[in-house]
Amino acid sequence: MGLTYLALLLGVLLAVDFYSSRIFRRDYIRSAGDKLASLTNVAQARPPRLDDAAELRSWTEWLAKSGARVTVIDNAGKVLADSDHDPETMENHSTRPEIQQALATGEGQSVRHSATLDRDLIYRAVRYDRAGGPPVVIRMALPLAQIDSSLAELRRRLLAVYLVILLVGGMFSLIYFRLFAARIERLKNFSRRVAEGDFRPLPAERPRDELADLADALNETAAWMDRTIHSLSGERNRSSAILRSMVEGVAVIDAQEKLVFCNRAFSEILNLDTVAVEGRPIIEVLRNSDLLGLIRRALRGEEGLQSDITMGIVQLRSFSVTAAPVQALESGSAPVSPASAAAPRAAAEKPSGAVVVLHDVSELRRLERVRQDFVANVSHEFKTPLTAIQGFAETLLAGALEDPGSNRRFLEIIRDHAVRLARLTDDLLKLARIEAGKLEVEFVPVRLAELIERCAETTLLKSTRKQITLEIDVAPGLPAVRGDAGLLREVLQNLLDNAIQYTSPGGHIRVTAVAGAREAVVSVADTGIGIPLAEQERIFERFYRVDAARSREEGGTGLGLSIAKHIVEAHGGRLWVESEVGRGSKFSFSIALAG
Ligand code: ADP
Repeated sequence: MGLTYLALLLGVLLAVDFYSSRIFRRDYIRSAGDKLASLTNVAQARPPRLDDAAELRSWTEWLAKSGARVTVIDNAGKVLADSDHDPETMENHSTRPEIQQALATGEGQSVRHSATLDRDLIYRAVRYDRAGGPPVVIRMALPLAQIDSSLAELRRRLLAVYLVILLVGGMFSLIYFRLFAARIERLKNFSRRVAEGDFRPLPAERPRDELADLADALNETAAWMDRTIHSLSGERNRSSAILRSMVEGVAVIDAQEKLVFCNRAFSEILNLDTVAVEGRPIIEVLRNSDLLGLIRRALRGEEGLQSDITMGIVQLRSFSVTAAPVQALESGSAPVSPASAAAPRAAAEKPSGAVVVLHDVSELRRLERVRQDFVANVSHEFKTPLTAIQGFAETLLAGALEDPGSNRRFLEIIRDHAVRLARLTDDLLKLARIEAGKLEVEFVPVRLAELIERCAETTLLKSTRKQITLEIDVAPGLPAVRGDAGLLREVLQNLLDNAIQYTSPGGHIRVTAVAGAREAVVSVADTGIGIPLAEQERIFERFYRVDAARSREEGGTGLGLSIAKHIVEAHGGRLWVESEVGRGSKFSFSIALAG
């Protein structure tokens, strides 16, 4: 850049030199021409005598005093006299251009190299038409040596000036270009910084020129990029936070059937390592053929795909899967295939990926099953007493009414079943209320010792009848608990009834109550039949009974524990069982202390 500038400067100086010397030379030639013209005028005014050689010579010498060389040539080109040379030794001059011109037109002029004197001369010739003879040509010449030397002098001076100009210009351009290069370097570093994500602006450029404008424009671009990247990353963070917190599994698959993205729920559902699977083909990652098939259909462009699939080996889980094609999928990991780049139209028509959403509906399905079972159970529970009532009523009507031996017994059976139906209905209503969240709990301080005492009174009657001993062991000074006395009594009564029901005569029931730092635990332990470990969790379900026939025989509905558990949980406590078959069971519930 600096060199170009210097070359330009040098070019300009050379051109100036060339044209100035030309003008100088032309001016000099013009003034020499003028001088020669006046000399030739003088010569013509005082023409020589041509017939006398001596006189001709002295005439030429007289004229040569003006400083010019004087030559007289006849019309054949022969030199008759010359102020500088012996005419005898001189060659024929008929070919000289000024001579030819003068003979033809009367006068002629030329600037050329003199063969005789071996230097540059300016010639001017005039034709002198003498009376009574052929015309002769009088030629005057002035050397150009002077001009050459003054030109050389001029050049020398100019050269000095040129050198100074070049030196100063060179220095200035060097400084200027150094500064310019430094500014460009700054801009270059700034661009590199921006590319690396550092968007701090450049300080204002000093001379307000195009480069400063460029710096301003770059600053604006960087600020804009900063803003855009900030808002994009904010957007991205928001989306990834949403995707992360979703309970549905979401995955994005590209056209090459590679997993581009999946959220945590997705990898948990399918037992995948999120980081390791991203970028891998789905065929290696997903083992479920139904899911793979659905994704492939979406990748072919099918819209609105929905299907239910089941997964798992030991514990089956149901998922509702939706898959949809995606048009403009920006994939970070999958490279853009050259085919799609070459044919953007085709790419626009074919989906570039698919999104699949897995929704865990296991709980929903379980609840559906529970509901169906419930309806079946309720119908079954109602059917037995209703069939009995119907049967015995028909028997009575068919004649047994008149039989005093059995009519009373039949009526008693009918009443027992009706009572059972009423209890069942009661329990169902209670359960329905509890499950609908309509259980009204009146929280008041309840003294456990009193509550246990009241329940024991009722139980004692039944237990003595069945020859079962009842022991109450309440820690002295037991603090009050926070709860609804009526509901808590119901829970304890239910546990006590069950203990009597599932304990053989001669058995023993022990009620204990202890208080911890925050809660009290009430336990009912019996020496009854016990509950197998596998069933211990399930006895709290509605209608679940270990031995349905025995329970029914004893007038149980299979709802008691379920109701009790609901009540305890509504108090913020827990109800659990420890039991061993053949040795007995211990049911306990915890309840928060009052205050
Ligand atoms: P049920 O009306 O049949 O007693 P529950 O809901 O109160 O219904 O009890 C559910 C089942 O749990 C009972 O059918 C019985 O099989 C079992 N169970 C409850 N309490 C005891 C206990 N103390 N000892 C043995 N089994 C029990």
